[in-house]
Formats: sequence, structure tokens, C-alpha cells
Amino acid sequence: MALTGLDIYKQLPKKNCGECGPPTCLAFAMQLASGKASLDACPYVTEEAKEALASAAAPPIKLVKIGTGDAVLETGDETVIFRHDKTFVHPTGVFVELDDTLSKDDLEGRIGKIKDLVFERVGQQYRVDGLMLRSKSGDIGAYRSALDTVYTSFPWALILDVGGFASDAGTLETLVKEVASVRPLLYAADESNYEVMTRIAKENDCPLAVKAEGLDALADLVQKITGLGYKELVLDPSRRDLSAALADLTQIRRLAIKKKFRPLGYPTIAFAKSDDPKEQMIEATMYIGKFASIVVTKAIERHDLLPLLTWRANIFTDPQKPIQVESKISAVGNVTEESPVLVTTNFSLTYYSVEGEVEASKVPAYILPVNTEGTSVLTAWAAGKFSAETISAFIKECGIEQKVNHRNLVLPGHVAVLSGKLQELSGWKVIVGPKEASGIPAFMKAKFAS
Ligand code: SF4
Repeated sequence: MALTGLDIYKQLPKKNCGECGPPTCLAFAMQLASGKASLDACPYVTEEAKEALASAAAPPIKLVKIGTGDAVLETGDETVIFRHDKTFVHPTGVFVELDDTLSKDDLEGRIGKIKDLVFERVGQQYRVDGLMLRSKSGDIGAYRSALDTVYTSFPWALILDVGGFASDAGTLETLVKEVASVRPLLYAADESNYEVMTRIAKENDCPLAVKAEGLDALADLVQKITGLGYKELVLDPSRRDLSAALADLTQIRRLAIKKKFRPLGYPTIAFAKSDDPKEQMIEATMYIGKFASIVVTKAIERHDLLPLLTWRANIFTDPQKPIQVESKISAVGNVTEESPVLVTTNFSLTYYSVEGEVEASKVPAYILPVNTEGTSVLTAWAAGKFSAETISAFIKECGIEQKVNHRNLVLPGHVAVLSGKLQELSGWKVIVGPKEASGIPAFMKAKFAS
């Protein structure tokens, strides 16, 4: 049962010093109760109180890590149901499924293809997070040899489908030990094997998926496993029919966050099962929207994964934190001292639209992205962040005057009104460019192509 704000308040030092952020201990207690603060923020809380408050201070969904180093996937740790309530913390992990009946060459070929599926969009890199190796053969020898190939050639996180081998605990233990250093997610403990699976996961410090049909059965099984002292868990509510699976995932999220129901306070995994690739992508997009922490798909084609990863970015990009590029001179193409200079803002979408169109024009040019805290041209202008003063100051400090032998600046057409004052402050001649980035190629060719 979750503690109330008043229960928590009784354990706090009651100095009302405000060092934790809110002005009083009571306000801090209320934030802790709603999962919006961390107990670490109070420097005066005693060890006894910390212990007593551990369950209230813990996030409603546990943070679980799969993989290690650069390949680690952090999942869980969410505190809200909807992004607009605060923010989402970890994007759904996307895993591609391969199986142990594939030949070594076929496995290596598919792994190579998955590794090549890395996309650049507005300065962000999109790729899948990992690979799930299914046991289709049911033979631990075949699985082990497929795993050797995967382990040596795949660089990101792994999910191992090894629950079916729990009856051969000794062999399974050896297999897990060999790959434990990359901290794979072991899939899955169920009612029949949970003691063996929990022991192996715990001894090798690997996260463990827990599988049961129906939320009551799942919560019961989680309690048995946590009773054995292991909490690095990922939940599989098991029902594969799309609407039932979505209902389970939604209930788990609501029970964990609204009711602080600890047995379901873990990240979740869902499987896109359809044999039709298009339907499979639809399933995966639904699971990303509601509320899978990890989704597993068989798709490895660019035309399937790029939309899926773009959809994920749409859901998990926090609109309160606009994505920005670094505010520094950017050279597009083989620039020279004569190359034109364009000014824009450092909002990623704006900057990359301009950069793409300058590239398309095939006229080498410099772009100056003024720091507008990640806002677009008109928004920044309206807020006074993209003004004659800020642009002029950036021209002086960024070093562009040492790179070109002219003083001509292309200004976005939407803020043509700044021309006169900008010319006066900077000493540069202002050329009013197109209002939309799409007009840049024709404008560049007409004005600057030799
Ligand atoms: Fe109270 Fe601790 Fe916050 Fe100070 S820092 S107001 S003592 S909770």
C-alpha cells in the first residue's frame, strides 16, 4: 500500500528549509507521494526514515537495465500515464526477433542488415535497441551455437528465449554464464520454472522476464519471485490478441502509477505477432503508443523499421524540451571565402530543413544557427530571441567574419522586418531570402550559382 503525503511528512526532518526545492517539508512530502520528487533531494533525512520511506520514494515503475556499456537499454522508471502529465522517461525499446533454426550465414546476414539500419533524423540517430534470439528448435545445443554467432557479431542488447530449457538447469546455467557479461534479458520465468530461472538470473545479475496469463496470475508470480529476493523484472502479460494485450498493458500502467501497486510496477514486454508485415507494424505501433516498455518484431526491412522508429520518436520526444543543434558555424559543401552566408535558428527541425535545402541547391554555403533555445524563426522572433541584436552579436562572436571575404547575409523572409536594424548593427548587407526553406534551392541558384 502506498504511503500518503502525511505518512511521509511524519518521517521528514521538519526544518522547512526549502533546500529540496519546495518551500516546506509538507510540500516535499506531497511531491514524494505523487512520485514527482526523489528523497535524495533532502540532505537531512535520517537513515531510518530513508528505509521507512523507500517504497514511497521508489518510482512507481522500476528502472531495469538490459545490456551494458554503450549498448545498455534502460527501461521503466515512468511516473505518468500521459506525456502531457509531465514527461515520458524512456522510449519503448525495439527488438528484432531471429531464431535458432537459421544457419550461421543467414544469422550473420540478418545481423549485418539490422546493424546497417541506422537512420539520421534532425541530428538524432534512430536504430533498433536489440535482438531477441528465439528458441524455435527446442534444442539447447542448437540454441547455444546460434547464440555464439549472435554474441560475437551483434553489438546491442539481447533477449534470450531460454525459459524452455529450465528443466536442464545445469546446461542452462552454463549457457547464461557464458553471456552474462552483456546482461541479457532472460525470457521467461513462468509458474513452472520460476525458481530455477530466478536463481540463474540472480546469480548472473541478468534481468528476468516474468510471464503469466492474466494480471492476477502475473502479480502472484511476481510476488513469489520478489519473495526470493529478485526485482530486476520485466512483465509479459502473455495475451497475444491485440485488444487483450493493449488492455493488459494499460491496466498494468494504471495500477502501477495511479494505485502504486508494486507487484505490477515493472517495465513490460509485448510481441507483434502477425505474419503479415504490415499488420505486424501496426501492432508494434499500437504497443509503443500504449504502453509497452519493450516491443519485439520480426521486421528487419528499412521500410518497416524507419516509420516505426519515427513513430516512437514522435511519442517520446518531449515537446517541453525542443531539440536543438549546437549554435556554431556550419559549412555545407566545399565552401570558399566567397560562399554565401545564411542565418537561421538552432531549432533542429528548422536548421535541418535549411541545411537539406542548401545541400539540394548544390551551392556551397555557410549556415549560422543563432541560439534561440530551440525555437523556430517566427516563434523566436516573437519572443525577442531572433532579433537584430542577437543575430548581430552572433555574427561578431562566431568567427564568420574571418572565414568569408564579403559581408552579405541571407535573412529568412519571414523576418524581413529586421533587415534595416540588422544592417545597421552588424555592418553586413542583408539579403532577404525565401520565407520557407523549400524556396532555398531556387533562390540560391538564382543569386549565387556561378
Ligand atoms: Fe524539509 Fe528536508 Fe526539504 Fe528542508 S530539505 S524543507 S528539511 S524536506
